[in-house]
Formats: sequence, C-alpha cells, structure tokens
Amino acid sequence: MQTHEIRRRFLDHFVRAGHTEVPSASLILADPTLLFVNAGMVQFKPYFLGQEAAPYARATSVQKCVRTGDIDEVGITTRHNTFFQMAGNFSFGDYFKEGAITLAWELISKSQQEGGYGLDPERIWVTAYESDPEAAEIWHRVAGIPKERIQFRDGKDNYWDMGVPGPGGPCSEIYYDRGPEYGRDGGPVADEDRYLEIWNLVFMQDVRGEKSPKLGFPPVGSLPKKNIDTGMGVERIALLLQGVDNVYETDLLRPIIDKAEELTGRSYGIEHEDDRRFRVIADHARSSAMLIADGVNPGNDGRGYVLRRLLRRIVRSARLLGANRPVLGEFMKVVSELMSPSYSELGTDFARIESVAVAEEATFLKTLNTGSRLFAETVEEVQIKGGKTIAGSDAFKLHDTYGFPLELTLEMAAEAGLSVDEAGFRALMAEQRKTAKEDAQARKHGHADLSIYKEWVDRGETEFTGFDELTSEAHV
Ligand code: ATP
Ligand code: MG
Ligand code: MG
Ligand code: MG
Repeated sequence: MQTHEIRRRFLDHFVRAGHTEVPSASLILADPTLLFVNAGMVQFKPYFLGQEAAPYARATSVQKCVRTGDIDEVGITTRHNTFFQMAGNFSFGDYFKEGAITLAWELISKSQQEGGYGLDPERIWVTAYESDPEAAEIWHRVAGIPKERIQFRDGKDNYWDMGVPGPGGPCSEIYYDRGPEYGRDGGPVADEDRYLEIWNLVFMQDVRGEKSPKLGFPPVGSLPKKNIDTGMGVERIALLLQGVDNVYETDLLRPIIDKAEELTGRSYGIEHEDDRRFRVIADHARSSAMLIADGVNPGNDGRGYVLRRLLRRIVRSARLLGANRPVLGEFMKVVSELMSPSYSELGTDFARIESVAVAEEATFLKTLNTGSRLFAETVEEVQIKGGKTIAGSDAFKLHDTYGFPLELTLEMAAEAGLSVDEAGFRALMAEQRKTAKEDAQARKHGHADLSIYKEWVDRGETEFTGFDELTSEAHV
C-alpha cells in the first residue's frame, strides 16, 4: 500500500467515526516554544489548554512534522526521519480511553479489503503507564491482546505533559513485532528496533501544577473534560505494508535514493557507509523541500540554520558518494513529484523551492572549494609532524576566514584519521564573541558567524534540541 493511500485511509477511518478532517498546519507556527511543528497536536494546543473552545468535538489530521532532534538517528536506525507525517485523531472532551483504543485497533487490524491496514493482530504489542491498569484492561478486553504482550513503563516513557502547568496524562503505545531477524525477544521494553513503535495514544486526564525541581509538574487534580491526542507514524506503517527494511526505502523516499545512484554512479545496498549516505540524502532532501515550501530560507540562525545544515549535508554526502556536479535541483524535482499529490504546495511553488536550494548549493560549493585547500594544507602539516590533532586555531581560521562550520572540519578531519582540538576552537570562539560584543548589532548581519545561533539557543528562547546533533555531525 502506497503512502498516500495509508494517509487517506487514516483520515477516512476517522471521518467515518465522526471526526472533522483538519488540514496539516504549516511546519512553522507562531509558537515560541518550538522551532518546527513536531507533532499533530501542536495546532490544537489552544483547545487542550482551554484557551479557546474547540469548534469540533473530534478532529483528525495528518500533520507535517520536523524533528531535528532525531537527525543523528537518520540513516542509522530503520525508523527515524527528520521530516515525517504524523496521522492523528483528537477528542476534545468527547470520547476517552476506550474510544481511542477501539478506533486505533479497528484501523490497524481491519483487513485491507475493508479499508484497514490489515496488520497481523498476533504481532501487536502495547505499552501502558505503570499506574494505568485501566488502559491495559481495555486493550485486553477490546482487542484481545494477551497479558504477555502488554508491558508497563514508568513516567519517563509513558506519561506526557506539555512542559507547562496544565493537562497531562498517561500514554499507551502500539508496537509491531518485525520478527527475530530484527532483534531480541522480550517486547518493546527490550528492543525498539525489532518492536517498531507505530502509534502513541495520549490520555489527557490530569491537571499538572507548577513545576517543582523534584516532581516535575505534579498532578494537582483531574481535568473536568478529558481529551485524546494520538500520533501514528505514516512512514512506519508504509515500511510495514511495503515489506521493506526501513523508512528510507518506502515509496516516497526510495526514488530519491534512485536519483542519488544516478547522480553519483554508486549503487545502494552494497556498502554500509554508502548506504547511510544514501539514506541521509533521501531524508534530508525531503525535509529541506518541505521546509522551503513552508517559507524557511537558508541562513545563519534559527530555522534558517537548520535548513542550511540539511542542504549542505546532502551536498557533502553526494560528493562523498562521487557526485561531481550540483545535485540539489535534481533532488528537489524528485521530492516535488513524490510529495505534491498530498501537499500541492510542493508542485505549485516548485520554481521557488528549486531556486532556493540551487542558490544554497552554489554558495556552499564556493566555501568548500576555498576552504578545502586550506584544510588539505593543514592536514599535511599535522601529518608531517606525526601529529594526530588539528589545532583549535586552525579550525578557528577555517571557520572565521572560510566559513567552514566546525562540524564540517570535524567530519573531514575524521575522514583523514585526525581529531580536532575542539576545546581550543571553542575558547577562540568565546574570545571572539567577547570582543565583538559591543559590535553585536553589526555582527548580526555577519556572514559566517554561527555563534549568533548558539547564543539564541543558550538564551533559552526555544526548546530546540537539535543543535548539538547538528553541530556534532559525526555520521556524515
Ligand atoms: P521513537 O521512540 O521511535 O523515537 P517517539 O516515541 O519519539 O518515537 P512519538 O513522539 O510518540 O514518537 O510520536 C508519535 C508517532 O510518530 C510514533 O509512534 C512514530 O510512529 C512516529 N514518529 C516519531 N518520530 C518519528 C520520526 N523521527 N520519523 C518517523 N516517524 C516518527
Ligand atoms: Mg523519538
Ligand atoms: Mg517512543
Ligand atoms: Mg512515542
């Protein structure tokens, strides 16, 4: 079953059950706590927080999501994308635990002829919060899941709150056993590669109070009207229904790998390192196109910096695979063809998406060309002296004069079998930042200074968790 069909079936199932179909929100919402929309419930937050009355009691959507925090997993695990589609159903004070479990179970277990996904019920495992025996009881009664395939987890995994005082509640997650060839026995608690998480159900039933250092947001009462928030990974269902090994080989990503094979002359499925790069390209090409479509431009801070890193990582990966001409225009074209049936903006706005990506690639190639020369000289000097480490001052010069981000230097150094004195680099960066403080306003418009971005994160203006992953790109 193709991904577009999986998405459509989800919406149809919940519309039939009285839900209003709500379009995906943009990846960029005016929510100061988030860099990008990362879950289906984000656009419904005001209803859950009681700030606005929900215009419907039940809603369903397939939300575009970006999780930069998962970037290090891309190409390594079989299940993490930076961009993915989260299908969800939501109840605003309407049905609760039993309704949510019943509706989810119907969709996954009903045969494909009858409009469901037809997953083998014997392979389904579920988890419940350790203090929520009710959820386990419902799973057993409604879906016939035996006790052995229901596992309990503590609050770290199976309790959800919004990171602010307000609604919270236990979760129950649905997993599919991919079989012993994918890992150890023992259920999701033992192995999350073999037991693939496909769906998370959140039962909002508690009111959480002010945060305390010890208790987090302690429960202070029960919600007068209980809510449901769920999220199902569309790409993960595609992986299962298409019988492939990982999300990158599903129908909306694999053609990007095919294009990368064509552009690099290398084949997928032969060499481990190469495969990871192919998967990174497929994932990042799609995320970048979706971000540009929603109005992000490459830049030196915030969202723009994330996009810049994604685009540059594609270019680097393609070069390492042997590409010797620009690639981003071609990748954007493939993504547009794949995604426009569900997201028309990828088609109607293609010319702009393409030109943003192509311009960024040209800028980056210039940086790479000049910086690479200095880098090669530096490596040679270190090796002649029998050293193993590139000095912090050299990394700083590459950064300051040639616009080489530290992560690029780290990456290239690793390829040459060298390390980098990161502490030395950071000390020089800190020094530069100090002297430049008076000039902060002017520096804001500077070219290669990524520290602006870091400062912005340090000030805690965002919950963005991807910076470390983005700057320690050990895996390219
Ligand atoms: P995981 O434990 O696999 O990282 P999660 O628990 O972080 O997933 P949730 O926050 O519960 O994920 O999101 C709801 C659903 O969205 C998940 O059950 C999964 O199907 C899907 N999902 C989450 N993260 C990703 C991702 N990076 N790529 C693809 N699908 C994802
Ligand atoms: Mg996760
Ligand atoms: Mg999980
Ligand atoms: Mg989860």
